[in-house]
Amino acid sequence: MLEFQDVRRSFTVRGGVFGHAQGEVHAVAGVSLVVRRGETLGLVGESGCGKSTLGRMAVGLLAPTSGRVLFEGQALPAPGARGETGARGRLQMVFQDPFSSLNPRMRIGAAVGEPLLAERLSRREREERVNAMLARVGLAPEHARRYPHEFSGGQRQRVAIARALVTRPDLVVCDEAVSALDASIQAQVLNLLRDAQETFGLAYLFISHDLGVVGHMSDRVAVMYLGRILELAPRAALFREPAHPYTRALLAAAPALRAAARRSAPALSGEPPSPFAPPEGCAFHPRCPEAMPRCRTAPAPALLEIAPERRVACHLF
Ligand code: SF4
Repeated sequence: MLEFQDVRRSFTVRGGVFGHAQGEVHAVAGVSLVVRRGETLGLVGESGCGKSTLGRMAVGLLAPTSGRVLFEGQALPAPGARGETGARGRLQMVFQDPFSSLNPRMRIGAAVGEPLLAERLSRREREERVNAMLARVGLAPEHARRYPHEFSGGQRQRVAIARALVTRPDLVVCDEAVSALDASIQAQVLNLLRDAQETFGLAYLFISHDLGVVGHMSDRVAVMYLGRILELAPRAALFREPAHPYTRALLAAAPALRAAARRSAPALSGEPPSPFAPPEGCAFHPRCPEAMPRCRTAPAPALLEIAPERRVACHLF
């Protein structure tokens, strides 16, 4: 349904008194990936690995520097392009901080109903759709008259989900959607997302730094590091038998996860290198316990199929 074809995205870094360009950060450095209809594709990686940039490109909020993002075979319109709203309504996003993604001066009913304005419904039809969606996320019709500051964090995230679902999208990008919530509220919101998926048949691109949350939600998992996908596998296979040294280290560092990798891989140490000056060769080599001389000198390994449905980017394979 959604396809990234060798997508790259760079940002110019500016500095000094005159804001001169000082270089380029390659936030996404050549990603090819497919999100299938009705599935949850988890995207996991440490902070700054480019997963949020990829999520924004998935819904057309950000254009790739090169490569293409296709929705049902058609390239997404450029951000801000007029006249094309069809794909946009079918691609929605839920952010980590619902407080900053909701207008503090807009009542909840108006905020949830705003994406419906493009559908030219009557006011009554719009209110019915909004109230039905509020009920689905566990809120009452009277909540529609309140403002965002009158809600708890968990309730605000429910509002953000209602706003994302009200247009009946095909794909929702959840970018760290439960990271700011307490564990018990997290579980409620994750269950809500799963219920909505069963009801509406939608797909999620579920972005998180938390492998436990990604494992709970996903059918397949993509592991991202410094702008590239290092491993892509069905959830069960990835947790049972992680292949890439980075995936093994991530699993070893997650105390709540039972994984064979915990016995055989050291936990991840050190910080990821700066995307401003990524290492030559395999970008993971400065932290990889299995690095070989060619990992530093050969071009970055490509993401290759090692078994049906399994891809890994590592010279060991
Ligand atoms: Fe480690 Fe080399 Fe594989 Fe990179 S290519 S993950 S450095 S073994």
